[in-house]
Amino acid sequence: MFRLVNKGDISYYIIDSFEETGLVRHCFTTRRGGVSSGPYASLNLRFHCDDTKENVIENHRIICDAIGIDYRRLVCSKQVHEDKIHIAGEDDCGNGIMFENRFESVDGLMTNKPNIPLLTVYADCVPLFLLDTRKRVIASVHSGWRGTVARIGYKAVEMMKAKFGSCPDDILAAIGPSIGKCHFEVSDEIAALFIREFGEETAERYGEKYHVDLQTACMGQFLKAGIPEKNITVAGICTYCNSDLLFSHRKTNGIRGNLGAIIELKDGTTV
Ligand SMILES: [Zn+2]
Repeated sequence: MFRLVNKGDISYYIIDSFEETGLVRHCFTTRRGGVSSGPYASLNLRFHCDDTKENVIENHRIICDAIGIDYRRLVCSKQVHEDKIHIAGEDDCGNGIMFENRFESVDGLMTNKPNIPLLTVYADCVPLFLLDTRKRVIASVHSGWRGTVARIGYKAVEMMKAKFGSCPDDILAAIGPSIGKCHFEVSDEIAALFIREFGEETAERYGEKYHVDLQTACMGQFLKAGIPEKNITVAGICTYCNSDLLFSHRKTNGIRGNLGAIIELKDGTTV
């Protein structure tokens, strides 16, 4: 499960199955424990908005300190709702936090190197976490509705197999808090796309409008890539329903901060 950890003023989720391996430091952040105010209160990880850069950097430092990561080494994504996944190396450390983000299109990050913390950010889209416990490979992948239709979750697993020789039986996967079917109203065209691509169970009519189930569509991709169901953790938490704890783009009409999915392989964990 995704378990909420409270540490002083700060709250964040950890995934039990990932924690139990002892291989990674990781979390999915909440709004609690940062220094930002107003719609960004308080742990906002979103740059380029009305929050100050100083606040946003301080929030990165606070959450990274809480889980034992050096925030100056974070590799930040450049999310554009596409399906590119970048394999991060030492040269990428600090990207988007210590120096200007030099990526063009990076919705997913992957590495097999320790001490390279990967960060993707959220406010309703689906955070995906992957950990190959044998080959020691991690990924943090942003899957909004466009990324989900582009099958970025499936592609991330296929990339682990192709680049690192991963076997799906060894991969733990997690699908984090995101906008739930309860609140993800979409056009008939988008609903039809999900039904065609991922089956009837991913879209449901609520009165006049269709609602789409992104988490189930992501689950289907992991299963299709061969990950056993027992290896997959689904948060089942809706950001819109829990907007006091989590940033939600829809709930706030876009005036909101970002949550973060952070994961790093610990030292001495390479094979
Ligand atoms: Zn909801």
